[in-house]
Amino acid sequence: MNHDRAKHLLYAYADRQIGIMRRFFLRRHVTGCPSCLAELETIQATRSALRTNLPMHRAPPALAARIASALPREMAPPIPRQRLHFGFAGGSLAGGLAGVALTLAVTRVVPPADPLVADVVADHVRSMMADHLTDVPTSDQHTVKPWLSARLDLSPVVKDFVAEGYPLIGGRLDYVDGHRAAAIVYRRDKHVINLFAFVANDRSDAPLRLDTRDGFNVVRWRTGGLSYVAVSDVEAAQLLAFVHLVESG
Ligand SMILES: [Zn+2]
Repeated sequence: MNHDRAKHLLYAYADRQIGIMRRFFLRRHVTGCPSCLAELETIQATRSALRTNLPMHRAPPALAARIASALPREMAPPIPRQRLHFGFAGGSLAGGLAGVALTLAVTRVVPPADPLVADVVADHVRSMMADHLTDVPTSDQHTVKPWLSARLDLSPVVKDFVAEGYPLIGGRLDYVDGHRAAAIVYRRDKHVINLFAFVANDRSDAPLRLDTRDGFNVVRWRTGGLSYVAVSDVEAAQLLAFVHLVESG
């Protein structure tokens, strides 16, 4: 994907409104284009500032009813209509942001699935579909780690756990939740495990959290200023065992 096309799609990408293949090619471009990466980071910072600071106002009943009736049937029932809220951008915000505010208000009414989980599961699936599992295909941790460190501003745990049944396959550059990320790839029997490491906005330590989505298990935690996310279709217990190896490595 060329720069002009990528630049044009950055907002749609940040709003997760483009399809899986276009996301793939856009991400490939962004990973290697400092200008697009900087712009995407600005867009995402604006989005999260809006999410945090947007004042919430009670929607008039007629509007709440309209929003509720516009929602897919399966999403509507758990939300009592009188509790629907509607956010709007205040006068200090540029008018152009009003559309964003409207989108956010609606997504706030029915919180979507955790975007980070959705993002890493999509990455994981794509890494296998697109035959782009590794940029540096080797089980040698002394090759993978410096390769990643040279290209990213971070130094994640990279270790071959072959003796424990989790051989290292290699590494690649990726992009997770608005951050450039190292993807360290392992195998468990015939299953692939992608371990993502990136510097998140919040660098405080966070304990393990397990989520499941579409048959994939996702374990995330933060330690030493780095966010880690492991994703695989191996059983949760096996993925957690892997995570404990990484943590103790
Ligand atoms: Zn570009």
